[in-house]
Amino acid sequence: MNSLSLYLHIPFCRHRCAYCDFNTYTSLADLQTVYAESLAAEIRQVAAQEAGSERRPAHTLFFGGGTPSLMTMGQLETILTAVRTHFALSENAEITMEANPGTVDLAYLTAVHNLGVNRISFGVQSAIPGELALLEREHDFAAAVTAVQLARQAGITNLNMDLIYGVPGQTLDSWAESVQAVLSLQPAHLSLYCLTIEPGTPMKRWLENGRIPPPDPDLAADQYALACEQLGAHGYDHYEISNWALPGYACEHNLTYWRNGEYLGLGAGAHGHAGGIRYEVVKQPRVYIRRMEQPEAPGYPLSTAVSAHHTLAGPEQMTDTIITQLRLLNEGLDLAAFAEKFGQSLLEVYGRTVEQLVEWELLAVADGRLRLTPKGWFLSNQVFYRFL
Ligand code: SF4
Repeated sequence: MNSLSLYLHIPFCRHRCAYCDFNTYTSLADLQTVYAESLAAEIRQVAAQEAGSERRPAHTLFFGGGTPSLMTMGQLETILTAVRTHFALSENAEITMEANPGTVDLAYLTAVHNLGVNRISFGVQSAIPGELALLEREHDFAAAVTAVQLARQAGITNLNMDLIYGVPGQTLDSWAESVQAVLSLQPAHLSLYCLTIEPGTPMKRWLENGRIPPPDPDLAADQYALACEQLGAHGYDHYEISNWALPGYACEHNLTYWRNGEYLGLGAGAHGHAGGIRYEVVKQPRVYIRRMEQPEAPGYPLSTAVSAHHTLAGPEQMTDTIITQLRLLNEGLDLAAFAEKFGQSLLEVYGRTVEQLVEWELLAVADGRLRLTPKGWFLSNQVFYRFL
């Protein structure tokens, strides 16, 4: 049986950040224990539907949110015990937990490490007080520095830090300051995201009523270019459009997504891709908990809490493969593997599109692989759009 990845969604936060449109809730902390039990039930239910008596191997597990670091040790143990009982989690599995600086102390980090968590992803976002305040983050940069030190003290050395560029009012200099500040902490991995102002967020309202300036795509491109240069100079491998890692520290879990591999999404609002099906779990935690009380599951990989799913048709699988694998800058898309999987070469199906994108120097073919060019890194969405 092929090994897969597991994503577990924890939809609780203490406070909602101004730009956030993730599936998270600030007033449901009293549901955490029953939610952990429902998640354990979903893990059991999905695993039980797989044919055969062997447990399915899993090589990565990712607690995403929300703020997973708000879960107590007992709640995390309930979930992890269910995972280990119903899946063959490999001995060296990458187990990541997203955490907000300021929500963790040494005792907590030591306890999660003892439970098996061996990678932490800190939502740092910026080192500049005014930018953190505008984003309505609850921590300051000093809390991020402390969190990193404590994680290392607890024995967790595989650390990611998230930063955001394209923040209203952020300049090239203030961005350079944030990049330098995180580099001085030498995390194993860095994820840099361009802010998108989503409908329904406070930030969208501020944009509409003129409280903040509109996004400046040219400045965001300069910020991205600066990060590419600085991180490269510090030995980070730019292995995915928005992700950099020191050698040997690429995120195995996210590599499953970018290689268009199989992953189970469990928990309220999670998305999954397995058995040729893409699906989505119901978002509202109370509804999720109620749904998990129903006994009749619809068949692997779906649980009773799945709200939508569809079986992927051939052309859709091709498109998914292209737009996920092109995100991997070194690896790119293996043309021979594509032809073997789909019984047709990529150039047969998308010859004219590829020709044009190569002519525009956004894609390049070399060593049997199709890759984005450095110019294509900046215009990746336009490249992907051409394959849809
Ligand atoms: S901590 Fe993350 S998930 Fe929670 S509100 Fe802020 S951005 Fe959203």
